[in-house]
Amino acid sequence: MNIRIEKTTNPKPLPDKDDPLVFGTIFTDHMFIMNYETGKGWHDPRIVPYGEISLEPSAMVFHYGQEMFEGLKAYKADDGRILLFRPDKNIERANNTNRRICIPEIDPDDFLQAIQEIVSVDRAWIPEKPGTSLYIRPFIIATDPFLGVRPSDTYMFIIILSPVGPYYPEGLDPVKIWIEDEYVRAVKGGIGEAKTGGNYVASLASQVKAHDEGYSQVLWLDGVERKYIEEVGAMNIFFKISGKVVTPMLNGSILPGVTRNSCIALCKEWGYPVEERRISVQELFEAAENGTLEECWGTGTAAVISPVGHLRWEEKVLQIRDGGIGPLSQKLYDTVTGIQLGRIEGPEGWVVEVK
Ligand SMILES: *Cc1c(COP(=O)(O)O)cnc(C)c1O
Repeated sequence: MNIRIEKTTNPKPLPDKDDPLVFGTIFTDHMFIMNYETGKGWHDPRIVPYGEISLEPSAMVFHYGQEMFEGLKAYKADDGRILLFRPDKNIERANNTNRRICIPEIDPDDFLQAIQEIVSVDRAWIPEKPGTSLYIRPFIIATDPFLGVRPSDTYMFIIILSPVGPYYPEGLDPVKIWIEDEYVRAVKGGIGEAKTGGNYVASLASQVKAHDEGYSQVLWLDGVERKYIEEVGAMNIFFKISGKVVTPMLNGSILPGVTRNSCIALCKEWGYPVEERRISVQELFEAAENGTLEECWGTGTAAVISPVGHLRWEEKVLQIRDGGIGPLSQKLYDTVTGIQLGRIEGPEGWVVEVK
């Protein structure tokens, strides 16, 4: 793929080294754009100055939500190399999402090339302080100017970049999570396993409710019985119970996280029994009561590993480890971030260098 590059003539100042880089608030100088049209395919890949895009108010994405997104990060290694973490997994998931919501797939090599070139153009924006990285947000929107429900015939694929610090202001301090028993996020057969905005809009009302009660995230239960644990806002969830690592199995309504997959692989490598299965809230609260619930943490690209210190379910409150981070959560965080920063050798193919 031949990507045309138009550099900005008006670069923005880079953030100050001591800027806290509040997640998702600062964008770099450039963005990648590529268009799709039925009959023509994906075409006109280009890197242009970051800025506004123009769409008709009738563009289908505004009315029927045909859009998808991905999220991954670029890291600056100690030796100056720029590393991506398992981008092939994000690209594979992107095309799974595309198939589910009738967006044309993107050639995986072109997708990776687009990520590599845009990161390379804005490489000066990759922050270097511990815990920081360059967040990469690829997304696709349906752009046909048309009111009526059908897949669009035109799309834009865009990649924007954002230098980020920790996702939660708490950092590695345990978060408080609200178990939602009123609303549901997704059901089997729906779009829960696709990374698309529709899942997030479905979650807003509970998130507001949870925030008002002093909780930072919502934990979703299954949409049918509201008994089994699914996942947290933008994270998959793990428990350590009686020495075993337990996480909800991918059942069609859970987002298959790359960090989830990586944690399972590492825990297995370290010899922990890992169970991907249904786990009810009842079982979890019983494990807490009989003292076998050892740790609880969320996994996701944005937060990496986020220890959970406090869960609320109806009127019951569960305090885990007196609010501190557990040893396995800490080891996972150190190992995953160590691999991402090129300090620890991970499994074959987990890091990809941007030249
Ligand atoms: C992106 C996302 C995750 C985490 O996936 P990673 O690939 O680990 O970043 C978990 N749940 C939801 C709903 C997500 O959108």
